[in-house]
Amino acid sequence: AVEPGSPYRVVLLGGSGVGKTAFASIFAGAADSMDSDDCELCGDEVSDREIEVDGETATIILLDTWDAEKGDEWTQERFMQIGDAYLLLYSITDRASFLRASELRITLRRFRPARHTPIILVGNKCDLVRRREVSTSEARACAAVFDCKFIETSAAMQHNVWEAFYGIVRQLRLRRDSK
Ligand code: GDP
Repeated sequence: AVEPGSPYRVVLLGGSGVGKTAFASIFAGAADSMDSDDCELCGDEVSDREIEVDGETATIILLDTWDAEKGDEWTQERFMQIGDAYLLLYSITDRASFLRASELRITLRRFRPARHTPIILVGNKCDLVRRREVSTSEARACAAVFDCKFIETSAAMQHNVWEAFYGIVRQLRLRRDSK
């Protein structure tokens, strides 16, 4: 059970190039972004941070580790098991990444059959309007089928990125409070 005040492990999932690193950089604070770009083993990169959501402090441990393309099966399974919540990213400019997100959702369901693991489907790069390949309405419908929340973000414009983290914390608290 998640006690009030104990850290939440949030895992970033998604195909290559969708913006996971950009998300993690914003989360960690822009100053760290250079280091993480250099690091081949970002596999083990973990950052944690306290954020205030609705007047209450939450600690998030963000795991931006597993590259869906390169990761071996063992690593994949490990990440599917350890998260308290998941941000499932795709790029609105890349339909293949949207399909990848669907696959990941299905895999996640195998590991997390319980319905209350918070998941947010995140359509990133919404600043690239002319290159959009996945419509908002399609993604929202998909999120409804997936039984998860949905948000569009732009890491480049720092738009809605924190809202995604706040949304995760709110869902985790709902789950905590209903226990
Ligand atoms: P990762 O492979 O999922 O970690 O993806 P990255 O965070 O490395 O992002 C891949 C590329 O997309 C980089 O060149 C980023 O600068 C760019 N990128 C990430 N998020 C956005 C966004 O919201 N808008 C735009 N225009 N580019 C982005």
